[in-house]
Amino acid sequence: MIADNLHIIRQEIQESCALVSRNSEEVTLVAVTKSVGTPEAEELIQHGVVDIAENRVDLMLEKQSQLAKYTDVRWHLIGNLQRRKVKNIINQIDYFHALDSLRLAEEIQKRAEKRINCFIEVNVSGEETKHGIQPDELDQFILSLQELTNVYIVGLMTMAPLDATENEIRQIFKALKQLQESIKKLEYAHAPCTELSMGMSQDFTIAVEEGATFVRVGTALFKEGRD
Ligand SMILES: *Cc1c(COP(=O)(O)O)cnc(C)c1O
Repeated sequence: MIADNLHIIRQEIQESCALVSRNSEEVTLVAVTKSVGTPEAEELIQHGVVDIAENRVDLMLEKQSQLAKYTDVRWHLIGNLQRRKVKNIINQIDYFHALDSLRLAEEIQKRAEKRINCFIEVNVSGEETKHGIQPDELDQFILSLQELTNVYIVGLMTMAPLDATENEIRQIFKALKQLQESIKKLEYAHAPCTELSMGMSQDFTIAVEEGATFVRVGTALFKEGRD
């Protein structure tokens, strides 16, 4: 089941890339394993998945210790991170997708033993329940990180609201892409901002069409049968 789903998802990523003349090697499939156990994550790895994501620190640490023999895996923390948990996880991950405050960045700076690849989470949709930096505060936020040598801004991340229409989702992804390009142009050493983490099971094909370089796919990998 997982192998079939993985095959379909990879194909859909390729088709979306072809539609907009992108090279599919630009898109990294990040498998979100928060809803499954270690055996499922291991199956993905055995089928060539390199990027594994969790949104909770404790579950991430558990899977990492059980899958320690797979030294090529890149671990992505995608959920909101409480400051008190930074020290437990920050040196164990390859990417953090949800940087959304200066205080969190300062804690990462303090605890990290190396430069941490971070995505800034941006609340493009303006939904009140959403985490993330407001688009009009992004420039200022990035400037405020300049002295934090362990916080390396590789790109931006967003989530579309669950009830958004396809058109709304597309507008949100387009807006994130524009923000990403505007930051990239500034050529900050601490924030090259070349990457876009957007798209989940429901909307990753739209995200790929709109320029995503990392898609975070969970449930579509594990569902039974086809739609
Ligand atoms: C759970 C989660 C995903 C994956 O969502 P699916 O709908 O299961 O694909 C992606 N990003 C974040 C931040 C998540 O928490």
